[in-house]
Order: sequence, then structure tokens, then C-alpha cells
Amino acid sequence: MTRRVIDLPVLVLNRRWQPVAVFDVATAITTVCRDMGWVLHPETHALHDFEAWAALDVPSAPVIPTSSRGVPAPEVIVLRHYEALPSRRVPLNRRNLARRDGERCQYCGQEGELTVDHVVPRSKGGPTTWENCVAACGPCNRRKADRTPREAGLRLRTRPGRPTWTPRFTVPAEQVRPSWRPFVAASEQVAV
Ligand SMILES: [Zn+2]
Repeated sequence: MTRRVIDLPVLVLNRRWQPVAVFDVATAITTVCRDMGWVLHPETHALHDFEAWAALDVPSAPVIPTSSRGVPAPEVIVLRHYEALPSRRVPLNRRNLARRDGERCQYCGQEGELTVDHVVPRSKGGPTTWENCVAACGPCNRRKADRTPREAGLRLRTRPGRPTWTPRFTVPAEQVRPSWRPFVAASEQVAV
């Protein structure tokens, strides 16, 4: 399957050169034309505004056909003003719950194999939310069973809530282009 040049993926870095998104070439060009970003040269890593970039000869880049002469397709752009990381929600799963809870059972404090405990049990209408789920060891979870902590004589060590960390931006491994590798860390080159 051949893709049109304007549909090719472009890695978007914030002004600290951290990856924050993937645009297509058309959107990346629009961003640079509006002076919201620079094109990053895939070999020299120099930054160019649109005029300068359009005048360059970049042998490795496919060319966007235009009415006059072709414009090299950018592979990486850098946003001029944006320096935040994208706000992405941490998915609620056993691994992230254990991480939020410091890899410890929230009833007895034991480390080790942890399960997901619904503080208000599901059988009593307790939802699967960050506020109602904690990491618990098997014995505490079994002891608590279908009861609230109070009914089971257990005490939560912390008040559960949404985690405070921001998940890192990830690019599916098969999408990572060679010119992106200096900016996308090895752990981010893994499909999620
Ligand atoms: Zn425990």
C-alpha cells in the first residue's frame, strides 16, 4: 500500500524536544507555516522555518508535489511555544494501581504479589475507579471478601485517588522512523 506523501507521519516535539504527538505531513506543514513550529532537519538537527526548509534540498526526504517546485516532507517538527507534555490519562489496571500504591498492600503494607481490591465491594455497587480501588495482597483481599474495610476490621493506609504522574508519550514500534530515534526513547518504541 502506498501512502501519499502528505499523509506520512511526522514526529512532533515540544520546545524542550520531548515527543508529544504524531501529525501527518499536511498538518505539520500547516503548523510550521503558521509560525507555530520549525522543521527539524533529519540529519543536521538544525531548525528551519517554512521558507528556509522549502528551499532546501534534502535527499532523504520524499517530496511534496506543489505547483512550483517540490517541498521536502518534514519528518520531525519542533513546536515553538508548547512545552508541556500531553495530558494523557493513566489507565486503571493492576500494574498502575500497584505503582500508585507504592507496590504495597494498602491494608497490611506487605510487598509482593498484589491484587485489585474494590474498597466498597462490587457486590455492593462499588465502582471500578481510582477512588474505589486499591492494591491488596491475596490474604487481605480474601479476608476482606465481600465486605467494606470497616466490616472486615481492616484499615486503609492511604486514601485512594487518581495517580499524579503523566504517562509518557508512546509511539508504536512499527511507526518509529529512523530520524525519530534520537527523540523517542527505547521504552517508548514499544506498542501499547
Ligand atoms: Zn495485605
